[in-house]
Amino acid sequence: MDLDKVEAALSALNAPRYRLDQVRRAVFSEAAASYDDVAVLPRELRDGLKSQAPILSLKERRVEVSSDGRAHKALLELGDGKIVETVLLRPSPVRWTTCISCQVGCAVGCTFCATGLMGLQRNLSVEEVTDQVLFWRQYMKRESLEGRLDNVVYMGMGEPFAVYDTLAQSLRALMDQKQFGIGARHISVSTSGIAPQIERFGRDFPQVNLALSLHAADDALRTRLVPVNKAYPLAALAKAIKNYLCETPRKVFLEYVLLREENDRPEDAARLVAYAKGLGPRELIHVNLIIFNETDTPHRASSEENARSFQKVLLDAGVHATVRQNLGRDIQGACGQLVVLERTHGQ
Ligand code: SAH
Ligand code: SF4
Repeated sequence: MDLDKVEAALSALNAPRYRLDQVRRAVFSEAAASYDDVAVLPRELRDGLKSQAPILSLKERRVEVSSDGRAHKALLELGDGKIVETVLLRPSPVRWTTCISCQVGCAVGCTFCATGLMGLQRNLSVEEVTDQVLFWRQYMKRESLEGRLDNVVYMGMGEPFAVYDTLAQSLRALMDQKQFGIGARHISVSTSGIAPQIERFGRDFPQVNLALSLHAADDALRTRLVPVNKAYPLAALAKAIKNYLCETPRKVFLEYVLLREENDRPEDAARLVAYAKGLGPRELIHVNLIIFNETDTPHRASSEENARSFQKVLLDAGVHATVRQNLGRDIQGACGQLVVLERTHGQ
């Protein structure tokens, strides 16, 4: 929903100011999926809004639900026919989280990521980013899913720091009490490591969580896996993180996808320990180890056992580390599996 459009439509329809608050309440707090459900609005206002300021800028094409019911993946169609994917996750019985996209595809091209294989098709508008959250709130209401959706992670398709202005505006909308009302501490942004934006982000959004997709603590290996490392190598990232931690004493999450015999050996763990320790105090650095989700790439996943021994090296050295649970693998909705392939989705 684009509130500027709603405001313009209401004024063109000569509606009084309080109508805006009624629309806002219905759409954001009550998750109304259609103006027809907003009984407080007179009929002609509803019809006018329907044509001039639609509630959602995207349309549901399909939703797939994992066998355990804890991951739901939606394919949403944008105005120009392109498709974006977004995921709703239930990591614990009371919490719902959504993983949203900021681009169709991605230009960074990490070698293990399905989105990276697509290349960049286009950036999303602010409305298209926030409408993914609105879509899930409507979906939860329609499907009678209990609990509230008030955690958002920017870990879907795309690189958030490549579209910084859209990211910033969408974050403000999500945190706005009169719109989504989501607390900054319940939002996380994940980046492949665009160093200057990391520092800017710390200044602009000190309460929002930051995750850095590291994947290797060795420049040659990281450049191979995450090509943007060529422009912003490990030393530049370390400097950016240190400056970030001066702006905000919030924990930084380092994401590390474990790829068999590529970055999952004991010496890789030892390098990661040294790198993590050089970034800041141990209580502010947390490593998230991610078991690789199969994609159409030559990479292979580390075994669970290997992940545990890798984690042990970190823990023994005093570096906080967890192995992330992977929800939604069976619907290709886990980390890095978001991709719209004609072949698999049959469009
Ligand atoms: N573009 C951003 C955010 C989206 S990806 C970024 O790269 O940080 C979210 C996380 O999933 C990143 O850490 C990413 O590296 C990881 N990821 C990508 N492909 C994956 C895969 N196939 N298996 C597991 N994690 C993957
Ligand atoms: Fe882009 Fe992130 Fe995938 Fe890399 S891991 S290609 S940055 S979406």
